Amino acid sequence: MSIHEILKTTFGYNSFRGEQEEIINTVISGTDALVIMPTGGGKSLCFQIPALVNKGLTIVVSPLIALMNDQVAALKQLDIKAATLHSNIDQGQTNQIYQDIAQGKIKLLYVSPEKLLSEGFIKYLKTQPVSLFAIDEAHCVSVWGNDFRPEYVRLSKLKEEFPTIPIIALTATADTATQSDIIKQLKIDGCKKFLASFERKNIKTASKSGQKRLQQIEAFLNGQEDNCGIIYCLSRKSTEKIARSLVERGYKAEAYHAGLDPTTRRRVQEDFQNDSTKIVCATIAFGMGIDKPNIRWVIHYNMPKNIEGYYQEIGRGGRDGEPAEALLFYSWGDYLNLKKFIDEGDANQTFKEVQSAKLERMWQFATAMSCRTNLVLNYFGEYRNNECGHCDNCVDPPKLFDGTTYTQMALSGVLRAGQKVGVNLLIDILRGSYKQEIKMSGYDQLKTFGVGRDVPFVHWRHYITQMINQGLIAIDFTDYSRLKSTPLSMGILKEGTKVNLAKYVAPEDKKKVVIAKREVDLSDMDNNLLDKLKKWRSKTAKTQSVPAFVIMHDKTLKQIATLKPDTKNDLLAVDGIGKAKLEKYGEDVMEIVSGNS
Ligand code: ADP
Ligand code: ZN
Repeated sequence: MSIHEILKTTFGYNSFRGEQEEIINTVISGTDALVIMPTGGGKSLCFQIPALVNKGLTIVVSPLIALMNDQVAALKQLDIKAATLHSNIDQGQTNQIYQDIAQGKIKLLYVSPEKLLSEGFIKYLKTQPVSLFAIDEAHCVSVWGNDFRPEYVRLSKLKEEFPTIPIIALTATADTATQSDIIKQLKIDGCKKFLASFERKNIKTASKSGQKRLQQIEAFLNGQEDNCGIIYCLSRKSTEKIARSLVERGYKAEAYHAGLDPTTRRRVQEDFQNDSTKIVCATIAFGMGIDKPNIRWVIHYNMPKNIEGYYQEIGRGGRDGEPAEALLFYSWGDYLNLKKFIDEGDANQTFKEVQSAKLERMWQFATAMSCRTNLVLNYFGEYRNNECGHCDNCVDPPKLFDGTTYTQMALSGVLRAGQKVGVNLLIDILRGSYKQEIKMSGYDQLKTFGVGRDVPFVHWRHYITQMINQGLIAIDFTDYSRLKSTPLSMGILKEGTKVNLAKYVAPEDKKKVVIAKREVDLSDMDNNLLDKLKKWRSKTAKTQSVPAFVIMHDKTLKQIATLKPDTKNDLLAVDGIGKAKLEKYGEDVMEIVSGNS
């Protein structure tokens, strides 16, 4: 069978995505390959299809047992002969697998790096017809990557032991230092490199100032119905608090953090994976070991400490290629907490400086007035400046106005108050507040007192944040975050240099980002039918003890609920249904479809 036929018949997809086809052909021709592709880009097919085309056995190295189990479960649904060997597989199962291999019954064998390099296993492999090594999460071999694993280092032995067998290394981590290191460590100097864009076109990105976050989240969830999502929080305590508040409001939400006992953690993770828990409020640890394709939204309740972390976390949304949303909340409080954390940590000075610079970029991202996707891609070295069309700033560009007078007011307030006030107090002065603190310090006697009373408090915050980002006012972290003038300030006060500011827009007035639907137009989707299909899928998944998405993806169910096929064979037109799934579930599904009229 050609690779196109395999794609259609076995996997149920109509066309390759991005560079998949070229990667697959490269690997089949026996050339080593390094594949850098964002999460959800479709890396697995790049070694799964060669595994099916090649004679013999493909060995897949993966660091996480949960991921290996999920992939093998998914492959079995497609009638692909796959198995996994790791520390949780008992002797009986292991013997069975060896027997199956001996009889040529296994095409893909997933192993942990420890297993692969254990004594005896290499020797054993040399007696087997191995056709390809696939190293998943290949950034783990490099200390420059963000998830270095010592057991990956010994993978450098592979090329020495098996010089003629091609290696495909795959990862979603971008930076160039890590890429070169992977090539060096795995000794694949002659490899072909495939660098996919890191843009996640199906993720709508938005950033909002973090006032009344819970209320904003509730408004957001209103448009999400039954969709699954994650709310990332900075502290364990806040994961619990937010989960509780959501449960009180009638949502199926749970908290997840490292302080919970392992049984609870496992249960929360499983319930989320099979769609019975819709919302998990978690610290960033959550999501690393799960490969759930239908996470429809990711909220950051607090601003993360750097763009790498942020982008990785939102990247867990929309892995199935369907639209997903990422909403970031930020506030000065978040910034200050993170800054304090860095400053008070016991890392060395250089490390602190790097961390602070990264935090600074994160803040620029959160408060950016131009395309957010550009900002992230440029940060990762994928330089470009065309608008992405799926971030809030592209869809609803900020409206600029001449903010010179406001800036002069704010600056004059800063100077007259002796550069001793923070943002909130400055706004109180500008708005002429009669708070105790203001009277006591005599700020009500300043010339600037009350000059900005027509401008609401939140608007002032919005404007002053922009002045800070434009370098017109500085925040002195070494002096209680008080506001100071900068070398640019005088130009504005004395020479009236013009300042452009973006108008304040209330969160509820912001335009919603809409992502164009791909392929099947789902506007005629029958929600009632979709519900029934989801119930059937839950039941089926439970019976087989596999996650729901292993049976069928959301996208597949949605297409069925839209196309409402007349015959079983029509189901083959649906994404994700190939021969095996048609045979296994075709009748069940058709019964639901035809009984739905
Ligand atoms: P990654 O490992 O890069 O994060 P996966 O290999 O898990 O991504 O693929 C992400 C999702 O995209 C999976 O649900 C997969 O079935 C789907 N997918 C991959 N390639 C295609 C394709 N050519 N057409 C349609 N769906 C695809
Ligand atoms: Zn954009």
